Amino acid sequence: MKLTILGCSGSVPTSGNPASGYLVSFPDAPSIVMDLGPGTLAALQDVQDPCDAHVALTHLHADHCMDFPSLMVWRRFHPYAPAKGRNFCFGPSYAPLHLGRLSSDGQPDGVDDMSDTFAFSPWEDGVEQRVDDVAITPYRTIHPVETYGLRLRHTETGKIIAYTADTAFDAKLVPLAQDADVLLAEAAWGASSEGKAEKMHMSGAEAGRLAQLAGVSTLVLVHLQPWGDAAETVAAARAEFDGELVLGKPGMVIEL
Ligand SMILES: [Zn+2]
Ligand SMILES: [Zn+2]
Repeated sequence: MKLTILGCSGSVPTSGNPASGYLVSFPDAPSIVMDLGPGTLAALQDVQDPCDAHVALTHLHADHCMDFPSLMVWRRFHPYAPAKGRNFCFGPSYAPLHLGRLSSDGQPDGVDDMSDTFAFSPWEDGVEQRVDDVAITPYRTIHPVETYGLRLRHTETGKIIAYTADTAFDAKLVPLAQDADVLLAEAAWGASSEGKAEKMHMSGAEAGRLAQLAGVSTLVLVHLQPWGDAAETVAAARAEFDGELVLGKPGMVIEL
């Protein structure tokens, strides 16, 4: 199993770093791409056939799903390498309507039906979905819209990738990350969440605290906003977590 960061810029894309998109790939099965924020489809093209991937959307804020309509165009209309069949799409229950509006041909109330190219299944909190050799368990997070952190377990190797999606800190998220080999943890608020909006994001300190409570091996800090101070965020996480800690970068590859 291989994890590739397509982009990890927080809330908006920035120069050289798309917004959220995390590719999990396998030697002998389609990939799973977690989130498709602005710019991630281009990054996906650099590393594989974009059609050869299932899509797992944590939530439908723009910075996590806006390249989905472009992927639909690629899958349907690429002149010599369109999608050969359907892939899975997972997301919040209203994703077909929301994404269908984004992908419509411009009619004011148009809704593009994705079912020719994606088989959609809605997340249910704590209910596992199986995709080939991967078990994906969604955990509802603390965010203003329906949002799920994802726990991916490779059933053959037992390796675990956990991704917080967007969330405020809460100890109830520990099972999402428990004993993960890699935790992709959002740390949008910088060093501290003091004075920041509630139910939105974690600080570096809170991402570190979550990793420590969950006993993860490697903490990867992601979703830092481009106007934030990355060094301060990392230092705050470091003070809370004594395992391996890295700052996520576009193009980063982690083999599991
Ligand atoms: Zn976000
Ligand atoms: Zn969000």
